[in-house]
Parts: sequence; C-alpha cells; structure tokens
Amino acid sequence: MKTISTYKSTCSYCGVGCGIDVHKDSKGKLMVEGDPTYPVNKGKLCSKGMNLHYVVQDTSDRLLYPQMRWSKQHDLQRVDWDTAFTRAAAVFKSIIKKHGPDAVGMYVSGQCLTEEYYLANKLTKGFFQTNNIDTNSRLCMSSAVVGYVKTLGEDTVPISYEDIELADTFMIAGANPAWCHPILFRRIEAHKEANPDTKLIVVDPRKTQTCALADLHLQLNPGTDIVLYQAIGRAIIEEGDLDWDFIKNNTDGFDSYRKEVMSRTFKEASAITGVTIDDIKLAARYIGNANAFINMWAMGLNQSAQGTNKNLALLNLNLITGQIGKPGAGPFSLTGQPNAMGGREVGGMASLLAAHHDLKNPEHRQKVADYWGVDHIQEKPGKTATEMFEALASGEMKAVWIVCTNPMVSLPDSKLVEEALKKAKFVIVQDISGKADSIEHADLILPAAGWLEKEGTMTNSERRISHLERVIPAPGEALPDTEIFCRFAQKMGYHGFDYQSTEDIFREHALLTKGTNIDIAELTYDILKKERSVQWPYINGKGTDRLFTDNKFYTPNNKAQILTNGPQNESDTIDPDYPLVLTTGRIRDQWHTMTRTGKVNKLNQHIGLPFLEIHPDDAKSRNINDGDTAVIQTHRGECRVNVNITQDIKKGVIFMPMHWGKISNEIFGRTNNLTANHIDPISKEPDFKFSSAQVVKFKKQ
Ligand code: SF4
Repeated sequence: MKTISTYKSTCSYCGVGCGIDVHKDSKGKLMVEGDPTYPVNKGKLCSKGMNLHYVVQDTSDRLLYPQMRWSKQHDLQRVDWDTAFTRAAAVFKSIIKKHGPDAVGMYVSGQCLTEEYYLANKLTKGFFQTNNIDTNSRLCMSSAVVGYVKTLGEDTVPISYEDIELADTFMIAGANPAWCHPILFRRIEAHKEANPDTKLIVVDPRKTQTCALADLHLQLNPGTDIVLYQAIGRAIIEEGDLDWDFIKNNTDGFDSYRKEVMSRTFKEASAITGVTIDDIKLAARYIGNANAFINMWAMGLNQSAQGTNKNLALLNLNLITGQIGKPGAGPFSLTGQPNAMGGREVGGMASLLAAHHDLKNPEHRQKVADYWGVDHIQEKPGKTATEMFEALASGEMKAVWIVCTNPMVSLPDSKLVEEALKKAKFVIVQDISGKADSIEHADLILPAAGWLEKEGTMTNSERRISHLERVIPAPGEALPDTEIFCRFAQKMGYHGFDYQSTEDIFREHALLTKGTNIDIAELTYDILKKERSVQWPYINGKGTDRLFTDNKFYTPNNKAQILTNGPQNESDTIDPDYPLVLTTGRIRDQWHTMTRTGKVNKLNQHIGLPFLEIHPDDAKSRNINDGDTAVIQTHRGECRVNVNITQDIKKGVIFMPMHWGKISNEIFGRTNNLTANHIDPISKEPDFKFSSAQVVKFKKQ
C-alpha cells in the first residue's frame, strides 16, 4: 500500500491507550501501525490493535440511517434525522413532564470520546435535571474510583507507565495483563528480562498467561482477597518493613489497621485464602524489601460485592510501606476501556460531577449549574448501571438512551436486562453496529460515527490525554455522537449546545477543570497535536507524570487514609445445589461483546468458541471429558459450552469468558445469563467474579 496521508490516533480498545499511525492510500484504503514516537507503546501494538483497520473497513454490519417504530406493535422503519430528533424530544419531554426527570436516564460507555461523555453528562445532569447517567465503566472500575477517593482524597491514578522501568517489585492482582493489557505487560516483561532481580507476584485463582512471568503466584480462593492482603500486611508489620516516617507524617489510621490485621493468625488466613503461610510471608518479604513497588490491579478486585474493601486492603500495602509518590512506586489500577478515565474526568457516572467536582458538595453543584446556565443540579446520586435496568424493569423508570454499549450481553443477569428493555416505554439505541443485541428492543435507533470517523480526545490509564483525528467519513447518514446530542438538545429547546466545533466542547470541559486537581484549562487541540499527548494536570505548559511527590494528598488534612475494611458484603452463597464458584473474564483476542473483534478472521482463530475451564477433579466427579458440551447453571439461568479440563484453575472454581452470545442450538455462551446482580454497596460495581454454579454434562434430547 502506498501511503498518501498519515493520521494520528489512539487505539480504541483497552485502557493502555497505544498511539496509532493510520495510513491512507489514494483509494482511501487504510492500514494501521503502532506510532514509534508514542511514549506508551513505542511502535508496538497487540493483536487486537494491529487489526483495527479491518474492523473499520468492514461496514457490513453498520447502522446507516435512523430507524424508528411508532409504537411497540409497529416494525422499525427508516426515518430522517429530523423526524428522529423530533420524536425523541417529544417522548422525553412528555415522560419528564408526566413522571419527573428521574423517569429517564442515559447509559453510556467507556468507549465514548471525552467530548461525547461531557455532553451526555451536561444534557442529563444539567438539562434533564436527573443524575441518572451511568456508564459501562461502572462494570469495570468504579470500585477503584471509590478506593482512590477514600484513601487519597480524589480519583487519581498516582503514577505513569514510565514508573514500570523504575520499579523492582510488582504485584499484579486480579488482572491478566498478558492477555488484557498486552503492551503494558510487554513493558513489564522487557524490564524484568533486563533486570532479572525484579520480583513479580501474581494474585489470581487461575494460572493465567501472566503467571508465566511470576516469581510467586498466590492462587487464592475466590473472594478472599481482603484476608490475603491483610495477612501480607501483618507479615510486613512483624518483619518491621514499614515506612514509619511516612506512616507518622503522611497517613491516618495505622493503629486501627494494625489491630485489625493482627486479629487474624496466619494459620486462619491460610485456611481462608488457600495460600500457604510461607507464600504469604514470601510476598510480604518481596514487598517489604522493595526499593520501588508497584501494585497493579483490575477487574478481579473491582468486579466484586466487596470491590471497595478489596481496593482499600490493597492500597494499604502501598501506604504502610510508603510506596507512593516516588519513582517506580505506587498503586496503579488498570482501566479496561480506552476512555474510562476521560469519563471519570467529566463526571460521567451517576455519583460524580464534571471535572472531579463533588456531587455531595452544594457549592460544587452550584458552580457547575452556573457554568452550564441552569438553576441547579440534583443532590441525589442517580441510578447506577444495574439500578437503572432494575428501575426500568419495575416501571419506576420509563425511558433509557443507550450509547455505544451492549447491555444485553455485558450487564449481569441478562434476563433482567431483557425484561427491562421490554418493559421500558421508550428505548433509544445509539450505536455503530446493527449487531448489538439491545437493538431488537429499540424504539429509536440512531446511527453513530465510529473510530476514525470523528475527532475528539481520550485519556488512558495513566492520565494521558490524546487527540484522535478524523480520517474518513462515516458511512450512510451516521453522525458523530456530539452532533447527535447537540441536535437533540436543540429540539428540546435547551441552550448551550450550539458549538461550532468539537474543540469548542473540549475547551468548555477543559475550562471547568481550572483550579481543580485535574486542571487542563490551558490545554487546546493545537497543544495536543503538537505534543501528541499530555498527562493531567497540565499547568504552565507542563503535564504531570507522577502525583503526590510532596506526600500531600487530596484529603482535608492532606494525609492518606489507611482504612480498615468494615463489615463484609455477601456474594452468592455456595450450597449443595450450586457448589462451584463461577468467575468470568476476557480472552486475548476478543473485546467485550465481539461486535468489532468478532469481524476479524485472524482474531477469531485464537479461540473460536466460548468454553468452560474446570479442574480435572470437578470434571471427573461429573463424568465430563475434555471437549464435552456441559450445561452451566446458576440461580439466574444456564449456558451450554464445550469443556476445557485444566489444572490451571483451582478445584471448586470454574471460568467462562464473557464475550459470546448464542452460537448454535447446542452452544449458548452468554455468560451473563449466569452472573448475579449483587453489587458492592459503595461502588455499586457488580459481582461478576463470584456466582455459585453447577455444571452437568449436556445430553442431546
Ligand atoms: Fe490497543 Fe490495548 Fe492492544 Fe494497546 S494493548 S494495541 S491499547 S488493545
């Protein structure tokens, strides 16, 4: 291919946020490669990223024009945009008038660009006057958000990827970056290869690809993370490997923490977690003797009915050892989605407010309301992802606008989600793909422009903001999400949605951050294009790679809070009918519900079908052989997939990937038919990692 023009973009899959060069030839054909100048990936891309051009150029499933049904009894029919906006505005106005603003809501996505996220948030919180806007990022990192806020005073990832090369000890807990954050993992791998004394501890009930690099794999029983991290904390205390100066000068709460962790013996902790006392103490020695320790985690901790407390227990290990605010040290939550962090910046969750303002603070609410030119913003947090669909199912909410996400497959308890969408009076689905399962329940379908078809910004896991150029026009009549929101808002008669450009939206968002801890008020598209990317806060022409270097945290007394974990919340109960623990996750070459990666043959060749991982003893006691089809059952429903018998999973635990839906009459892999809609009481993140389950051999009728 002979390149005519090259454009700068960022990968639209995971939160690593790799820089991409998009080459276009004279016929408009595209090819992507890693941007060699980009600090995150230095030219590398993983299998998903390097196949992105196939996804963009295959428009076979794209939504090309708005479609609408006049009533639930009517079929969808093609309409023009003006008719679509007129209907949407009429229905939203009527529902808000009749049932109040809390009867409507928006469910958006960590794949939205920051400008889109900002507008959806402004529209809902400012103009609908409800805080019922939540995002599918609720499903992956809301426990980390709460953990940071409680411990450090604000939702802030303190370190950068460049700290990886400065660390000598890592703990990766509840994450499989070798498959799910591959380019980040390659950096750890290369660093460890160059520095063989570097230690890596992996905490996971499964022996994943990440474990291949580990010096120590703590294969804990699912749901016992808090006990494990507290036992490691106890061993660090007993060995005297604490940073007393840091604890005394920069933290609160150590005495209560010590009391709590000392109340459980190593023997008890070992019995609960399934990890030997020797391994608990070895992990503590690695961490206690580290010069620079990075603690990384993802969904294994966050997606839990105890997600907040698991985060607190893990963060405490950095605080008692003073491993924060210095090169190569800190807690580092990995975001799953490309712009989960950007969504957090604009307050794109039911419990947050734009630019890290505090929804509970009346002055903050008034400041944002004045900025948007509205009377007020509701104090009451809105409904979170699972709460919103429960409210639709119960009839409390009447309408939902789903943007760039596929809740029928990705939310827990799929049957409840389906019931909710059937019951809702009005469902808008704004998406790029006609394959999203929620489409069949839509009353109005709005075709959106996809990656490379619009411009905007995203922020990756390390607070790095990048600008994505528009490379090609959107197919058919599809529009950028920002234009869809603005034209709808104008139909509603709302002011403040008459932007001249996408950058105008970005600047409005950026100016609202002035004086906050995420200040990017100076930042413009020109600066982003020139610098390629910057890390927030961006002040006096400089981004920030590392936070808390002065050990002053964002809490009222500037001290980090070492918090004990309080009462435990309940996950599913294991009983004789459902004696196994089902945990769920991703595979290397698929992304979410496969609406994009599923189009690429090369990616489908890695693992082509959904599967169940089960321990040999559990398979044997059920008379199941490798490759058999099994029925997996929980209180919510069932799936049927082929069995992969492996020693890599603990006895009593089973694993299924979350990507697939119905494959054939025999194979049905919609894992979230099985998962529980238990949520963490504080972060409201669902408990995808612990569902009581049974497995039986499938018998053909
Ligand atoms: Fe894209 Fe993540 Fe792969 Fe980088 S590691 S290319 S951001 S999917």
